[in-house]
Amino acid sequence: SMDSLSTLASWIGESSSIVFFGGAGTSTESGIPDFRSAAGLYLTEKSSPYPPEQMLSHSFFISKPEVFFDFYRSKMLHPGAEPNGAHKLLARLEHEGRLSAIVTQNIDGLHQKAGSTRVLELHGSVHRNHCMKCSRPYGLETILESAETVPHCPVCGGVIKPDVVLYEEELDRRVLTDSIQALSSADLLIIGGTSLTVQPAASLTAYFRGRHAVMLNAEPTAYDSRADLIITDRIGHVFERVGELLA
Ligand code: NAD
Repeated sequence: SMDSLSTLASWIGESSSIVFFGGAGTSTESGIPDFRSAAGLYLTEKSSPYPPEQMLSHSFFISKPEVFFDFYRSKMLHPGAEPNGAHKLLARLEHEGRLSAIVTQNIDGLHQKAGSTRVLELHGSVHRNHCMKCSRPYGLETILESAETVPHCPVCGGVIKPDVVLYEEELDRRVLTDSIQALSSADLLIIGGTSLTVQPAASLTAYFRGRHAVMLNAEPTAYDSRADLIITDRIGHVFERVGELLA
C-alpha cells in the first residue's frame, strides 16, 4: 500500500548506514530469471538431464565441465541485462551517504553497473574468472568469446573457472567478515528479492541489530515474522516509487 511505501521512504530518510541484503529477485525485472519463482530455473529446467543444483556444484564442474559450461552460458550469463529501479535507487542511496553496503547473493554485477561501489558479493561474480592452473585472471569477455565450450587459458592451457561460489565450495572469508561487520553496524536493513533459503548467506541477516528491518519480496519468506515492515511486491517497481517519494 501507499502507507508502507511512505513508511519505507521515511525510514530511509532517517538512516545513514542502510544495508541492503538481496538475492536473485532483485534482478528478475532486468530479465534474469531467479531460481525458485514459477519462472525460475528450478521449475523451467525440469527437462534437463541434471537438476540445476547439481550442475552448479563443484564436483559436477570438475567431472562434467562441458555440461556445466553449456548450462552456465545459456542460463547464468546475461551480458545485455540492464539495472532496474532497485539497483538504481541503491546506487543513489550510496552516493547520498545513506547506504553503507549491499550484501548480495547475486553474481550478475548489476549493482556495479548501476554505480554502486560497496558491493559484497557472497557468491562471487560472473565478471571474474581465473585459470585453475596458473591463476591468471580473466574477464567475462574471455568466457563469452571463447570458441570452445570449456574455455582454456590462452597462456598455459589450464581450464578457466568462473569466480562464482558453487555448491560444495566455501564462501570467501573476507566477504563474510565484511558482510557481518556491515550488518552489525547498520541502522536500517532492507532484505529484498531473496527466498532466504541458501545457507550460510541467509543466516547472516541475524547479525542485524539496528532500528528497522524491512522485507520486500514478491512472496512470503521465513524472515517475515521478524520484519517490522513487509512489502509483498516487485522490488524494482517499489523502489522506483520510493525514489519519487524521497525526491
Ligand atoms: P531464489 O530464487 O531462491 O529466490 C528469489 C526470491 O525473489 C523469491 O522468493 C521470489 O518470490 C522473489 N522475487 C522474484 N522476483 C522478484 C521481484 N521482482 N521483486 C521482489 N521479489 C522477487 O533466489 P536467492 O534467494 O537469491 O537464492 C538463489 C541463489 O541463486 C543465490 O545463491 C544466487 O547466487 C543464485 N542466483 C543468482 C542470480 C543472479 O545473479 N541474478 C540469478 C539466479 C540465481
